[in-house]
Amino acid sequence: MFQADRRDLACHLIRLDSPKELDHPRVVQVPDPDRQDMQFPDIWLRDNCRCKECYLPQTLSRLPQLWNNLDTSVRVLRQSVDVEQQVLYIEWSDGHASQYPYNWLRERDFSAANRQRYLSEFYRPEQKLWSGQNFEEVRRVFYFQELITSDSALLQWLQHLAVYGVALVKEAPLEMDVLRRLSNRVGFMRRTTYGEEFSVRAQPGASNYAYLAAPLPLHTDMPYFEYLPGVTLLHTLEQSASPGGVNLLADAFYVAEMMRERHPNQFRALCQTPVDWADIGSDGDLQFHNIWQAPVINLDAEGRCVRINHSIPQRDSHFSVPMEQVRPWYEAMATFVGLAQEHSCRFKTTPGDVLTFDNLRLVHGRTGYDDTDRNVRHILGAFVDWDIVYSRLRVLRNATAPGAP
Ligand SMILES: [Zn+2]
Repeated sequence: MFQADRRDLACHLIRLDSPKELDHPRVVQVPDPDRQDMQFPDIWLRDNCRCKECYLPQTLSRLPQLWNNLDTSVRVLRQSVDVEQQVLYIEWSDGHASQYPYNWLRERDFSAANRQRYLSEFYRPEQKLWSGQNFEEVRRVFYFQELITSDSALLQWLQHLAVYGVALVKEAPLEMDVLRRLSNRVGFMRRTTYGEEFSVRAQPGASNYAYLAAPLPLHTDMPYFEYLPGVTLLHTLEQSASPGGVNLLADAFYVAEMMRERHPNQFRALCQTPVDWADIGSDGDLQFHNIWQAPVINLDAEGRCVRINHSIPQRDSHFSVPMEQVRPWYEAMATFVGLAQEHSCRFKTTPGDVLTFDNLRLVHGRTGYDDTDRNVRHILGAFVDWDIVYSRLRVLRNATAPGAP
């Protein structure tokens, strides 16, 4: 692909062919000893020039001048590599000159394998979906004190949470600040209309359905927010001595994938029918009127599940869709709810447990219970956002194995 010129070789410089004219976008091919050639679109290289005019190292960010009048026809006039120093040099048609270190290029190579490596190893760990029938293989225990004192334990907890969507923390003290201490290890808590930390205890005249002792069917927390909290933390201070109060948990992405395969029309109905979600009322002095319209199954640009919205009490009686979409949605939803129950797991937390799970992916609930004068089930809850969790995960990983910035 490239031709060596004797004079250039003397100073380890190798002149390379111009980018392939036929390809659109034009591709710069960069030889890498012992590996496959790397490939980059020429305009991307120009945009990502590392010189002082184009890049500010102290903020690790691009300077905007090039974009004041971006010349999309900019092309490579000359390119060469210094094999010894591992640098790519490019002279551009706009008179600019750029150089790129090989280690920086390798991290950004456009080959399919490298992009996949970056996405699954660095961007976000790949999720592994599960049925409640296999919950024993997914269930993993972490210890509160270790998470507070050890970065490597912290990393493993967050990694497990990202991959499986659930992790159980044990041996937390029966104190009110446990969730704050845990959240502060990650970053910070997410505040909602119910405050930063909320107390789940059966109360007469409750402001929220979860504050009743009746069975709480599978749901996600706060589907009525556009920016809903990402990770739910539930600290058991006192568990019900009655047979009830059992936790239910299901991986709704697993259920959604099952529907995509077995009930494609119903899957489509749940992806494409916007549903109105609502939480209207007050907590303490704060009055609120939270509504949000979105489907039950939310997909990203590549069709992967990214968020589930589901809560029977918090689904609005407004349903702002054309009439003919209503019945197919109910039929699809009946299948979804049935499959979620079928593939849910059950366990009962004990005092000192902190159940942590992905609120975008899992649905959770509990069976009903009976309080007595001596035994009042008491759970503390809090949220942390996924942006904060993923950020912490990457910082922790970089500290052990410097990666991609
Ligand atoms: Zn530059």
